[in-house]
Amino acid sequence: MARARIIDGKAIAAELRKAVAAEVEALKREKGVTPGLAVVLVGDDPASQVYVRNKARQTVEAGMKSFEHKLPATTSEAQLLKLIDELNRSRDVHGILVQLPLPPQIDTRKVIEAIDPAKDVDGFHPINVGHLSAGEPALVPCTPAGCIILAKSVQPDLKGLEAVVIGRSNIVGKPVAQLLLREDCTVTIAHSRTRDLPSVVRRADLLIAAVGRPEMVRGDWIKPGAIVIDVGINRIEGSEGQPRLVGDVAFNEAVEVAGAITPVPGGVGPMTIACLLKNTVGAAQSQTQ
Ligand code: NDP
Repeated sequence: MARARIIDGKAIAAELRKAVAAEVEALKREKGVTPGLAVVLVGDDPASQVYVRNKARQTVEAGMKSFEHKLPATTSEAQLLKLIDELNRSRDVHGILVQLPLPPQIDTRKVIEAIDPAKDVDGFHPINVGHLSAGEPALVPCTPAGCIILAKSVQPDLKGLEAVVIGRSNIVGKPVAQLLLREDCTVTIAHSRTRDLPSVVRRADLLIAAVGRPEMVRGDWIKPGAIVIDVGINRIEGSEGQPRLVGDVAFNEAVEVAGAITPVPGGVGPMTIACLLKNTVGAAQSQTQ
């Protein structure tokens, strides 16, 4: 069997960012509106700081305005809710993203629910979650949206495929399963209590792994020719003691069996911010209609 096609998430994300930039230009030209994204970071978690910096840079590169709000780790829930209220009212801000996780004194649910659903570019507000599960137009979580774009880059019509999602988190597993249902796939959601996971995975024409366990999915679990989308980002120790990123799928084994597969890094990762930019321009379009 030939080796799988490697799905180039970097290139597909770059294309998407270009398309978003063109939509931003059109909005400026036709409506005189520049889409704006506010990113709120509470505390000084180094990984979150890197994400926020990348989001801000790519927002500006796409022609949009970026508003960064960095608050100390001691910020109270009331202070954060006050800022969200200001951003909800601001005419310059079309998308609001609160970087998670939040410090323990702040109730994450309360904060997410305080964001205007029309500006909820992360797609975590219960109104957007509800619209998505009802099959209605919604702001959709970014990583799941990226997974679907990558799968469709291999097979534009996913109708009728047996899709297996491993993981049932609110940020990846559940929303990606909803999106697959919207694409008319037959969807199975597996999790830590699933019996005989390998045989469930072997049914999959399309596999989405969102677990957070390094190389858990082995090559002999994969159906020959399947499309494999690996969401996992796991830091492990490499051969020379250097840290190395791997996915939830044992890539070197799976690449010999699958039809197409995303690498880690360079697969799903780059799609997340690109989809965030897409959501922001979409939110700006809806708010200026
Ligand atoms: P969570 O920890 O919230 O969820 C993990 C899921 O995997 C749970 O539903 C859990 O089941 C399931 N699981 C755990 N162990 C097993 C097992 N042995 N067999 C089957 N299922 C299992 O993680 P997230 O959804 O937030 O993230 C998943 C991965 O994706 C992580 O590696 C994360 O870093 C990565 N990620 C990457 C993003 C990107 O590319 N931009 C964005 C978001 C996440 P149960 O519910 O039963 O506990």
